[in-house]
Amino acid sequence: MQEEIIKSEKIKIVSEMAASVAHEIRNPLTSVRGFIQLLGESNLSEEKKRFYQSICLEELDRAQLIITDYLSLAKPEPEMIEKMNLHEEIAYLTNVLSTYANYNNIQIEAVMPDESPLYILGDRYKFRQAVINIGKNAIEAMKHGGTLDILVKKSQEHVILCIRDTGIGMTAEQLKRLGTPYYSTKEKGTGLGTMVSFGILKKMNGKIEVTSTVGKGTQCTIQLPKADAREKSENDG
Ligand code: ADP
Ligand code: MG
Repeated sequence: MQEEIIKSEKIKIVSEMAASVAHEIRNPLTSVRGFIQLLGESNLSEEKKRFYQSICLEELDRAQLIITDYLSLAKPEPEMIEKMNLHEEIAYLTNVLSTYANYNNIQIEAVMPDESPLYILGDRYKFRQAVINIGKNAIEAMKHGGTLDILVKKSQEHVILCIRDTGIGMTAEQLKRLGTPYYSTKEKGTGLGTMVSFGILKKMNGKIEVTSTVGKGTQCTIQLPKADAREKSENDG
């Protein structure tokens, strides 16, 4: 019974999300359709053609961005809960994020506690999606270069993942709106990345804390249960 309630709650959340993605993607698709129709008209000037074409490309890029920020939802349920080796995951994520950082003169520095293996539980692909969205924001906040630190610490029962940038930072007002749907200060933002990330991390029993100083940078601290600690507490309960 309990399980069924949780399941129907999940389906509700997924279908709400799907509806809003559909809505967000329909807009750019509708405008692309309109401009392709216009492109089919005879006696268009070269200038007009190029203009319509550039709008089509921009709108398609926007649809692409929306899909990227929502990627985690594209994976069919049920999700795979597995034990992840954090050293491996951080190495993977550092690699992916460096492809975003390359253009902007950004250093990425990852620091792990030591060599001893550290495990967390969750769906590997969703976890990656969550960290990539946060890391992407950090990189996008450093238009003129800077440092992206990925620090991992551990305590008795938790691992603490800290993603820190030296970017533009946020005001208290902006910080409050972080993670709410469609909140974006970017010209081409979707305002979905953080919401998706926080959702994934919370599902992993994560705690997220964001602090920021305008002009100095932002620090996102994520506390996740260690795989061993969590398994133990589940057996106890
Ligand atoms: P998007 O990146 O598409 O704008 P997000 O949900 O990922 O949407 O982020 C929402 C907003 O939060 C951003 O537009 C930005 O204003 C702010 N933000 C998020 N992360 C940072 C950061 N590291 N530094 C400065 N601002 C940030
Ligand atoms: Mg983003």
